[in-house]
Amino acid sequence: MIANPRTFPCPYCNQIINETMTQCRYCSTTIDPVAARLIAERQEKANQAYSDASYLRTATVAMYVFMGLSFIPLVPIVGWGFLATFVVVLVLLIRWQVKFGRLVTNDADYLRARRSWRLSLVLWIVAIPIGFIIRPLVYFMLRAATR
Ligand SMILES: [Zn+2]
Repeated sequence: MIANPRTFPCPYCNQIINETMTQCRYCSTTIDPVAARLIAERQEKANQAYSDASYLRTATVAMYVFMGLSFIPLVPIVGWGFLATFVVVLVLLIRWQVKFGRLVTNDADYLRARRSWRLSLVLWIVAIPIGFIIRPLVYFMLRAATR
C-alpha cells in the first residue's frame, strides 16, 4: 500500500481516481499500474506547476507595488524592494520554465499556470523600461523641480 496515493483523472472517464486502483471506480476500466504511475507523476508535476506559478504571480504583483511606491521620492528604500523582487521574478520565471516548460499535459490547471507564466514574463519585460528608464527620469526631474 502507498501511504499517500497520488490522484489523477481516469484516462477514459476523467473522474479522479488514485494510483493504488487497478480498476476505475467509476467506469470499471482496468488501469495499467505502470501507466497509472506515469499519469499520477505527470498530474503531480502539473499541480506543482500550478502552485509555483501562483508564487510567481504574487512576486510579480509585489514587484509592481514596489515599483509604484518607488515613484514617491521620499521613500528610497522601496527602490531596493523593486530591485529585489525584479531579480526574484526573473529567477522564478526561469525556474518554472526549466521545471515545467516541457510538460505535456492537457491539465486545465497546468494550462492556466502556463498562461499565468506568460503574463508574468510580459509584465517583467514591461517593468524594465518603467523601472530602469522612466523611474530614474521622474526621480531626477522631481529633484530638479524641488531644487
Ligand atoms: Zn474511469
